[in-house]
Amino acid sequence: MTAANEFLNIVGLINEAKKIFVVGHIMPDGDDISSVLSLGMGLQKLDKEVSMAIDWKIPSYFSELEEVNLIKTYEDINNFEADLLIIVDASSPDRIGRFSEHLNRLKSIVIDHHATNLYFGNYNWVDPTFGAAAQMILRLNKALGVKYDEKLAHVNLMGIETDTGFFRYSNADERVFRDAAELISYGARPDKIAKMILENKRLEQFQLLSRMIEKLKIECDGLLAYSYLSQEDYETYNCTEEDSGGFVSEIRSIKNVEVAIFISEFEKGEIHVSFRSKDWFDVSKIAVSIGGGGHPRAAGATLKGDIEEVVNEVVKITKAALEDELK
Ligand code: 5GP
Ligand code: MN
Repeated sequence: MTAANEFLNIVGLINEAKKIFVVGHIMPDGDDISSVLSLGMGLQKLDKEVSMAIDWKIPSYFSELEEVNLIKTYEDINNFEADLLIIVDASSPDRIGRFSEHLNRLKSIVIDHHATNLYFGNYNWVDPTFGAAAQMILRLNKALGVKYDEKLAHVNLMGIETDTGFFRYSNADERVFRDAAELISYGARPDKIAKMILENKRLEQFQLLSRMIEKLKIECDGLLAYSYLSQEDYETYNCTEEDSGGFVSEIRSIKNVEVAIFISEFEKGEIHVSFRSKDWFDVSKIAVSIGGGGHPRAAGATLKGDIEEVVNEVVKITKAALEDELK
């Protein structure tokens, strides 16, 4: 099945469906929230009965965007019946949290741009050439006949802007700029999105950042940099995992660093590993090898265990892979 055929199948299935359940991934980022909202709001314009949901708390800085209130939690939903379950920006069933329970019961569609996608839906439109899943939603909405207004354009742009690192990463190609320009022509405001996400920090986050920098280590002649925060660190600075969003990019910003790793113990014994690379090292392979996924330049995994042991293990396998590439 080609991606183009799968796209047409999906348009047909959505046209026929009345009640649609749109689900994003745990630890949601800007692209995920944008994709859930853009698809959900688009489908509402077509008079579909829509539920939008994510099995995770939405990071508080997104609450400036009033539309995020449309996204329900697992607990909010008391009727899981639907003609279609559409999953966006998620590469494997574990990424949708408890909503994965409904995968075998409901007809499911996966829309994603991760090369590591496991094709876990009944229908899967997966295209890693897109910088953001939100670009796929823009195309889907237009094929369905959704008319864009200012609000829809604005939430749709958020995913494109955040997943390209505010138009800085290698995935910010011509199509990204064309899609962004189209959404801006409908009234989206890239400056407002950037301000909401980048210039909205609490003072405690700076203290947490300083703790992360204190613990920073450099290996492989400066090619690998990593740091981590334990549950105690978060508690000390009255912070949670959402406060360390962006820390891994800070690590990557160090001159000559190719691979950056940031490891967070977001709950006692529950650990999230974020990988980033600058030019050539494929971090998605490492992430997959420890049960996660992602893109060549940005990947992650969620593990259980002792934080120090996980840090040692993750650094060990990354160092070995990096040294192997350099041979
Ligand atoms: P981040 O480091 O910002 O959490 O995630 C970077 C990329 O890796 C994103 O594209 C995200 O979807 C993917 N990713 C992060 N954590 C996980 C995980 O636990 N499992 C999988 N499969 N992918 C992840
Ligand atoms: Mn994405």
